[in-house]
Amino acid sequence: MFCAKCGAQLPDTAQFCANCGASVLQPYQQSYQNSFQQPYQDYQAAAHANRAATTALVCGIVGFFFAGLILGFIAVIQANSAKKQGYMGGKATAGFVLGVIDVIGWAILMIMLFS
Ligand SMILES: [Zn+2]
Repeated sequence: MFCAKCGAQLPDTAQFCANCGASVLQPYQQSYQNSFQQPYQDYQAAAHANRAATTALVCGIVGFFFAGLILGFIAVIQANSAKKQGYMGGKATAGFVLGVIDVIGWAILMIMLFS
C-alpha cells in the first residue's frame, strides 16, 4: 500500500509511514470498510428497489379489480420510488402503467356510478 499523505510505498502491515510518520491505519480501515460495506449497501438498495417494483406491480394488478384509486396511486408511487433507486427492470414500468390505468379507470367508474 501507499501512504495517503506522502505517497511513499509501505508494507501492508505498516501502521505508520516510514517516510513522513503519518498514521496509515485510518485510510487502510476506510478502504477495508468500503470494500465490504459498499457492495452490501448497493445490494440493500437494489433489494429495496426491487421490493418497491414488486409492490407497484402487485398493487397495479390488484387495483384493477379492487380499490383501484388507492392501489393504483400506491403502484405509481412505488414504481417511481423503484426507478429513483435505480431499478431498471420492466416490473416498475408495468406497475406504473397499471397504476395509471387503475386510477383513470376507477375514476371514470366512480363518476359513472355517482352522476
Ligand atoms: Zn508518508
